[in-house]
Amino acid sequence: MTNFTQAVVVGSGQAAFQLIASLRGGGYDGIIRMIGDEPHLPYQRPPLSKAFLRGDVTAEDLAFGTSTFFEENCVDVIQDRAVAIDRLDGKVELSNGDLVGFDRLILSTGARCRHIPDSADVDGILSLRTLTDAALLRERLIAAGSITIIGGGFLGLEVASICTELGIPVRVVELMPRLMSRNASEVVSSCFYRNLAARGVTFEMGLSHLRLRQEDGHVVGIDTDRGYIPTNLILSCIGVIPNDALAVDAGLAASNGIVVDEMLTTADPRISAIGDCASHPNRYFGGMVRLESVQNAVDQAIRVAGNLIGEHQPYDSLPWFWSEQAGMKLQIAGRTFGNATSTITHGAPDEDAFSVFHFDTDRLVGVESVSRPKDHMLARKLLRSGQHVTQEDLKRLLAPQTALA
Ligand SMILES: Cc1cc2nc3c(=O)[nH]c(=O)nc-3n(C[C@H](O)[C@H](O)[C@H](O)COP(=O)(O)OP(=O)(O)OC[C@H]3O[C@@H](n4cnc5c(N)ncnc54)[C@H](O)[C@@H]3O)c2cc1C
Repeated sequence: MTNFTQAVVVGSGQAAFQLIASLRGGGYDGIIRMIGDEPHLPYQRPPLSKAFLRGDVTAEDLAFGTSTFFEENCVDVIQDRAVAIDRLDGKVELSNGDLVGFDRLILSTGARCRHIPDSADVDGILSLRTLTDAALLRERLIAAGSITIIGGGFLGLEVASICTELGIPVRVVELMPRLMSRNASEVVSSCFYRNLAARGVTFEMGLSHLRLRQEDGHVVGIDTDRGYIPTNLILSCIGVIPNDALAVDAGLAASNGIVVDEMLTTADPRISAIGDCASHPNRYFGGMVRLESVQNAVDQAIRVAGNLIGEHQPYDSLPWFWSEQAGMKLQIAGRTFGNATSTITHGAPDEDAFSVFHFDTDRLVGVESVSRPKDHMLARKLLRSGQHVTQEDLKRLLAPQTALA
């Protein structure tokens, strides 16, 4: 039995779907309303830059659950945009003026792409977040026959990798001197650089400025400090901005995402925030963090659903993430950027099968693995256990395998 009867979730992505599945799975039989502003039921985003772009799966394949999931689970699906929260009356206002009452509100509004300044009205500059974006990208990619990607992070590189498989010439333009510099170590960056370059991706890195050139409303190229790059199609992969305006306008705190406590609740005990839109305290990061990953969206949704039906447990999941590029799988667990003070590389970077273990004051805090799923799983187990694992401990655990550097 719960002490509420009207659960409303704003957003209809990964976290919303999981929340609904876990609420119903946990026995909640009250009202569930899902407000989503996309013209689709919840679907998986990761394949948008992988199998969907390659043409291996269709939009239908990406849907979560069966086509009758929402009907069977008595979920009231509202396809509209939530524009305001009235916390006093417990109502969400939609763009059509309707009001949706709640006694528990879960914000899972995700994030939106950051845009290149002055690019809004220029044809030929795309971004990738939604199924609609991905379908347009695929269509324009094939029509243009080549593409320039601005941003050498996970997303840009996944798309670049698929372009090489489709036989489409691709150039990646990046301001930083190395790839995935925000989240990956140098050895991982260079492994992916080497493999993507071998597949035909052209790189322009370490640029100090970029300026779009357009003619008659169409992009024609990019001026950089190292010269001019002609291009009539650009994919902008320069990061995302959390969708926190609804919360902020309702007087709730946001700082790189909607601020929640260890129960994933905002300052208003009836309102939670989960997934890409939420900034939460995380012991693996030693502070507040906003993560953009399937693991984070799913685990936070499971936790909030559990708490709504009476478990009262703080959120405490180990963060992990994966990316697929150049036929390789990169897996990351724990904290691999920020304060990590030393690393151990295990395996063979030259053979594209290795892991980089990260230590903070001689305590294991994270791992990056390239085509080494066993290392990844071992590190997840160790990190989750909360044990103080030193470099010596790890060397002993990995001893029968390849030498450590
Ligand atoms: C192309 C791509 C590839 C990715 N690949 C990987 C990967 O390989 N591995 C990995 O771990 N993660 C990956 N991710 C990240 C992962 O998909 C996200 O972390 C996850 O989808 C976050 O789920 P969410 O529910 O928090 O947000 P979202 O899935 O973004 O859902 C939020 C939804 O809320 C809607 N919304 C926002 N505001 C409102 C409003 N006011 N009213 C109504 N609806 C609203 C949005 O339109 C959206 O539909 C990828 C993401 C993308 C875009």
